[in-house]
Amino acid sequence: MVNKPTVLVVEDEPSQREILMYNLEADGCIVITADNGDDAVLLAEEEQPDLIILDWMLPKMSGIEVCRQIKRRATTRDIAVIMLSARSEEVDKIRGLETGADDYVSKPYSVPELMARVRARLRRARPSTVGAELSFGDIVLDATSHKVTRAGQPIHLGPTEFRLLSTLIEHPGRVWSRDQLLDRVWGRDVFVDTRTVDVHIGRLRKSLCQNGGEDPLRTVRGTGYSLG
Ligand code: CA
Repeated sequence: MVNKPTVLVVEDEPSQREILMYNLEADGCIVITADNGDDAVLLAEEEQPDLIILDWMLPKMSGIEVCRQIKRRATTRDIAVIMLSARSEEVDKIRGLETGADDYVSKPYSVPELMARVRARLRRARPSTVGAELSFGDIVLDATSHKVTRAGQPIHLGPTEFRLLSTLIEHPGRVWSRDQLLDRVWGRDVFVDTRTVDVHIGRLRKSLCQNGGEDPLRTVRGTGYSLG
């Protein structure tokens, strides 16, 4: 990684905050912290961290509400959120609440396990092209600002389509199987039907061709997809 990833830790208990800070910094992250929900929402907006580790139990605004607010705002909704909660039953409960969190970990967590999840999220949030613009033909993808243009015209993509294009544009010409794309874009630990890949490729294709131009995505029969 060119730049260190930034992680926002939202936790009101100082000892818990310390443990997280220590381990994240040891892992090469820049850590910023908040001990309440209002600060968390503000910091997410101002600092644009790569990842937020968010405790459910916070004074005043709960972690669930913080997560909802972050996922509601266009400027922060693409930031990955890992929610922490005190018991696994709570994890089951908040999973059902559609908070928009990307992952859930119950306390007491094992530090190596949490760090593994953090790394997995950061790998997805920050492709190896941090700070760089990648292009393919007249398509330009800026991994930092999450902007895509084609022939100078902005192309609006959903987060999944953006990750798909990031993956494909990093290796033009490479043929990806649906399973490989699932691993790269959705993650190994998520159960998604391979047909979902087709749906999102279809959306990506439509967005990329919205202003005309040739379809850059190639369907390789029986195998998968490639760019170019
Ligand atoms: Ca707490």
